[in-house]
Amino acid sequence: MKAARGRPTKAAIDVNRCEYWDCEEAVPATHFLCLQHYQLHQDNLINKCQSCGKFKDAKYELCLPCRKKIRATPVPRTLKQAAHPSVERNTQLTDDLSDDFYVYILKLDGGEYYVGQTADLRTRIMEHRDGEVATTAGKNPSLIWFDFARSRQEALQLEEHVKHLKDANLRTFRGLILRFGDLVREVGR
Ligand SMILES: [Zn+2]
Ligand SMILES: [Zn+2]
Repeated sequence: MKAARGRPTKAAIDVNRCEYWDCEEAVPATHFLCLQHYQLHQDNLINKCQSCGKFKDAKYELCLPCRKKIRATPVPRTLKQAAHPSVERNTQLTDDLSDDFYVYILKLDGGEYYVGQTADLRTRIMEHRDGEVATTAGKNPSLIWFDFARSRQEALQLEEHVKHLKDANLRTFRGLILRFGDLVREVGR
């Protein structure tokens, strides 16, 4: 567990924790979200998880821990075969509502790289991590770079470009990853 960050809290005023699922920011007793997450709430970008009531990305029904719990529960075969209509509608919805498409690079065990594109980066990365994608299964895939595109077409083009770099210009490809990682660490401090 991470230590609480931010300003030291003043004396013994009543203090809440921000209710965003992984935020540990302390907030005054009259608040339920930290400033950053309150702003996201105002913008309708976050809302409550339907399972635990913590705040999460509004694009999804569940926060990540709840989603993980549900994925860990094996789905009976019969249910898988006859997908409920609402399940299909949801999948459709995710794609339609998605503003962005993503191109991403995974680092695999043994120094290999995998380049892919998706309309739902979070779900896709979890599928990779859960071993549901044959190419990366058992290879400890970790996300080391991503960029977004405004349409599937644009994403496919960017994916082609990044794959080409990987095969034909490994130095530029590695530079891309290096700068991205440095930036995240630098800014995330
Ligand atoms: Zn927060
Ligand atoms: Zn939840």
